[in-house]
Amino acid sequence: MTTFHNLSSVGDSPISAAEIEAAYEQQRADFEVWRERTARDQQAEVDAALTAGAEFLLNRPDSGDRRVHTLTCPHVRRKLDRMAEWAEARWHPQGGVFPKPADIQVLTRKELESLGKRYKRCQICGPDVVEAPKRKRQDAILAMSLAEHHAGIPIEGPNGQELGDFISAEPQIVVTTSTGTHVLPARSTVRLRFND
Ligand SMILES: [Zn+2]
Repeated sequence: MTTFHNLSSVGDSPISAAEIEAAYEQQRADFEVWRERTARDQQAEVDAALTAGAEFLLNRPDSGDRRVHTLTCPHVRRKLDRMAEWAEARWHPQGGVFPKPADIQVLTRKELESLGKRYKRCQICGPDVVEAPKRKRQDAILAMSLAEHHAGIPIEGPNGQELGDFISAEPQIVVTTSTGTHVLPARSTVRLRFND
């Protein structure tokens, strides 16, 4: 997905309200171009898959909660219209794209079977596919072991607090000095200033 530049990159000198407004306008315009192209590309993919005999819709394929539906499922069938889905998406300077249409994949039975049952079946439309046995409900791991393949899985903090679905982890190091505690990215560089 396209990254929209942060306003702090506009320049080093103080920026005026008019410049900020102009920058927002430019970002909105860039977003519109990107939104239309994304919608068209996704629609072309869906249409090609349907032409190729696709029978199933996989909702949120990149999440830990990917779910298989029939193409006529009342819960998701409108998602096949990517143009309509993206028509309501708006860009917000603070919060990115909202509402952001969930990704889908439209698959033939063979394509779905190649995923190795790593999905759940929709309980509403009940597609005629085999589901994987339920995953173990909870696994305790060290926070430093969180990795890309955990993406989409809801995680709980050390005190049982709900932290939401895992996206990514940034290794950090906690440094205590005479001025207090500092959290630095683990791969950042620090300079040791020796007294000559
Ligand atoms: Zn369904």
